[in-house]
Amino acid sequence: MSDITENIIGWRKLEEFWSELAKKLEKKDNIFQVADFDYTLFSRDEQFTGIPELLNNRADKWPAYLFENYGMIEFLEKYYKNHPLPKGIIEKFDPSRDIIMTAGGSKDFQIAKVRSCPELNDFRVVLTYDGKEKIPELIRYILFELRYIPSEIIVYEDRPQYFVEYRDFVEETLWTKLTVMKVEMDGNEGYKSIGEV
Ligand SMILES: [Mg+2]
Repeated sequence: MSDITENIIGWRKLEEFWSELAKKLEKKDNIFQVADFDYTLFSRDEQFTGIPELLNNRADKWPAYLFENYGMIEFLEKYYKNHPLPKGIIEKFDPSRDIIMTAGGSKDFQIAKVRSCPELNDFRVVLTYDGKEKIPELIRYILFELRYIPSEIIVYEDRPQYFVEYRDFVEETLWTKLTVMKVEMDGNEGYKSIGEV
């Protein structure tokens, strides 16, 4: 856990602090939902077919490649604009409460992709540097933005490993239940599977 919650205070004290804060918050009998973006709400299959060079650039190099060789505006217009999201997950979401949480080394690239999708206009978006940082950011979001403890948190993810690994930690810190749903998209046509892990 140390590398996830490390900061100048020290992770053990932080865990205790989070947990004490959580105890003081009101518990509400409702479900708070979080969805990842890439390959959970939006498939990138089309862009990898259209720009095969992306496959030769490691994940952290995509944004630089697109900025320098393709043009980010052109990329967003071609591969995000007028690309309706598949239903299935987003239709279960309530924009007054539920959020999108997405990781990307280039925050501008990541937020611009999400904001190119009109269906997500009303949702709050939380950006993290990588998948692992989603764990402390989820806890902080509940404590400091939502400011109540939902009876259940449901996370939708195509790569749910950190939520599975740290499920007990999240549940013990926030005194609630964390349900993790693994998602497999079928391009942007829909979903091959959505199931609890
Ligand atoms: Mg993803």
